[in-house]
Amino acid sequence: AGPSLKVISTMSVGFDHLALDEIKKRGIRVGYTPDVLTDATAELSVALLLSTCRRLPEAAEQVKSGGWTTWKPLWMCGYGLSDSTVGIIGLGRIGQAVARRLKPFGVKKFLYTGSGPKPESAAEFGAEFVPLTRLAEESDFVVVTCALTPATQGMCNKDFFGRMKKTSVFINTSRGAVVNQEDLYNALAQGQIAAAGLDVTTPEPLPTKHPLLSLKNCVILPHIGSATYATRSTMAVLAANNLLAGLRGEPMPHELKL
Ligand code: NDP
Repeated sequence: AGPSLKVISTMSVGFDHLALDEIKKRGIRVGYTPDVLTDATAELSVALLLSTCRRLPEAAEQVKSGGWTTWKPLWMCGYGLSDSTVGIIGLGRIGQAVARRLKPFGVKKFLYTGSGPKPESAAEFGAEFVPLTRLAEESDFVVVTCALTPATQGMCNKDFFGRMKKTSVFINTSRGAVVNQEDLYNALAQGQIAAAGLDVTTPEPLPTKHPLLSLKNCVILPHIGSATYATRSTMAVLAANNLLAGLRGEPMPHELKL
């Protein structure tokens, strides 16, 4: 659109794909779709967590391949949420919705990290604000639900995975670039952590020959966090209304404050 570009409407809550400095400089207005995708994304995060810690794709494959033979006490065992410690990186809208859904599974303790403590959001879960290092060391499950920013880019790296327990499970439904994927691959391949579930990767789509896809203890989904029919339909209507309001010079239903 060049210099005539007046309004951008993104059908997403994340805006890390937008060149905000340039957008601001040109006075372009931006609409986005927070809130309406929170439930669907939290639900997918829980589905991915359970699929990963209870090894569902691997187990289902065993049924098809004939690997399912006589009953064996430790075959296809994984890790459960009961009595566990869950660490949430980014206790925002989606992070809180994930905690709300995980609590009834019998989680013993919630930890969280972010730019500062959020006592009001944390109270519902009795969640404790801790530094990232302590979250890595004490969590049985790490769930990443933060925004991708210069501060969070590559935050889950060698040092982070090195601090996690060998029995811990790592889940990322935020953005792929929050994770150093090479470091994650090494941690998974060397048994430094138990398993990982990723809805987001770098790049997207992930090349089919990517080393992460060769690992049994890594479950990868094609960025389907908000992908329910109802949610995508609501997001589409909101994105259209943002755009129309922007073009008319009216307040948008959800405008990004730049
Ligand atoms: P919110 O703005 O409500 O939450 C973002 C969270 O990121 C805040 O809690 C914020 O914490 C946290 N954060 C920011 N900086 C840091 C930091 N340095 N360390 C740790 N946490 C930090 O956004 P939503 O919950 O609505 O969405 C979160 C993200 O989820 C989106 O930005 C998007 O990338 C991703 N997403 C992925 C989807 C998928 O399909 N997989 C679908 C929808 C969203 P604080 O307030 O303390 O700074």
